[in-house]
Amino acid sequence: MKIRTRYAPSPTGKMHVGNLRSALYEFLVAKHEGGTFMLRIEDTDQERYVEGAVDIIYRTLEATGLKHDEGPDKDGGYGPYIQSERMKTGIYMKYAKELIDKGEAYYCFCDKARLDTLKTKPDEDGKAIAFYDKHCLGLSKEEIEANLKAGKPFVIRQNIPNEGTTTFHDELYGDITVENAELDDMILIKSDGYPTYNFANVVDDHTMNITHVVRGNEYLSSSPKYVRLYDAFGWDVPIYIHLPLITDENHKKLSKRSGHASFEDLLEQGFLGEAVINYVALLGWSPEDNREIFSLDELIKEFDYHRINKSPSVFDIVKLRWMNGEYLKAMDEEKFYEMAKPYLDAALPSDYPEEKKKKVSGMVKTRIEVFPDIEGQVDFLGELPDYDPEMYTHKKMKTNAETSLSVLNEVLPLLEKTDDYTNDALYAMLLKFIEEKGYKNGYVMWPIRTALSGKQMTPCGATEILELLGKEESLSRIRKGIELLEK
Ligand code: GLU
Repeated sequence: MKIRTRYAPSPTGKMHVGNLRSALYEFLVAKHEGGTFMLRIEDTDQERYVEGAVDIIYRTLEATGLKHDEGPDKDGGYGPYIQSERMKTGIYMKYAKELIDKGEAYYCFCDKARLDTLKTKPDEDGKAIAFYDKHCLGLSKEEIEANLKAGKPFVIRQNIPNEGTTTFHDELYGDITVENAELDDMILIKSDGYPTYNFANVVDDHTMNITHVVRGNEYLSSSPKYVRLYDAFGWDVPIYIHLPLITDENHKKLSKRSGHASFEDLLEQGFLGEAVINYVALLGWSPEDNREIFSLDELIKEFDYHRINKSPSVFDIVKLRWMNGEYLKAMDEEKFYEMAKPYLDAALPSDYPEEKKKKVSGMVKTRIEVFPDIEGQVDFLGELPDYDPEMYTHKKMKTNAETSLSVLNEVLPLLEKTDDYTNDALYAMLLKFIEEKGYKNGYVMWPIRTALSGKQMTPCGATEILELLGKEESLSRIRKGIELLEK
């Protein structure tokens, strides 16, 4: 059997991390077996349609490398690939009528006023939900004909018996059996003529020859109804893989409020697309060993959907930051510089020389987790921040305000005398001084670094900073340090 999977987003806005994971797993299930990965746009809910959202879908698939083999822009013989276009071919109505003929569906002409009186059954969240009472199932053929002729608005509902049970199989959750009495006669065709997701997903997955359906487990409770539709048509049910919920650190559903729920949010926060994909792959799936860093090609090779875990996955931004940092470390210098440049430009003076900027880029590369970290690492190079003289006190270096003042006074003339402000020369000179005096390295370097940067953490050592700042600026900062310590 040739594997065919589909990513079937609704164009409703940014791409949520949960959707991205579905897309990725669908892609991996197919590619792991040399199958076909298809894109289908599910736009039948016209009220939720957001302008520009289709572009976001294409852009995200492009940026993440999840290339579809078939879709609205790549015909593979199963089109149209957009549900609103499929609807125009009459496909959904044709199949709905087939179900009516089989007694598995029926016309319903109930108006809103009547339906409102039915909202009695509380759902899991305690909210009242509509549960249709099969009123229109009792209409005679003549009544139905007359209503249709009169142009009375209607929907088509699935006819689910009140007795018996329905069982369906999910790869992760196993066999799930529900009482039919628990299943609502859901709407298949809406009054605007559009199919519901509930109906379209079945018709489309079957007619587009989909073998594996990967989606969020919010669809788990409706799946028995889908299986009844497959059975009614006499179609094979695809393999279902319902994915566990993704939660935030507080174990609440990952929502917009968390600030990093969508792929776009994460890119805006400076994460790399590859790192996000790698991280998202591990939200519910793990390889046999403890390996964590995977390129997309490596994921294709390793991904075995039987190893998907059904316990909720926590989206851990700290872990993602770490992973992103690993990608930055492994990145080619040139590429890193190109991507870091806008952040360096924003943090450094406008006339900062290019060759120094490149040097700084190399220094921060292994020290940041995301590009926006650059600012806090390099801002002192442009301007010395105000700092607390307490910073001169360092237990391990055995320094305090007093020792620092005397060291700075000792090194100032040396730094005034030399004109060679290269790291190597400065380092050799200071080392000689340290040896002559019998000091420890940190005892001298810490106060110099503090005076030059006003920071506890810098992306490089004292002599590298001296080189970056140059003689004039370095001396001015050392003198300022002396002044501050003398107070
Ligand atoms: N259009 C649905 C969504 O975006 C797709 C669910 C599915 O994959 O079947 O949630």
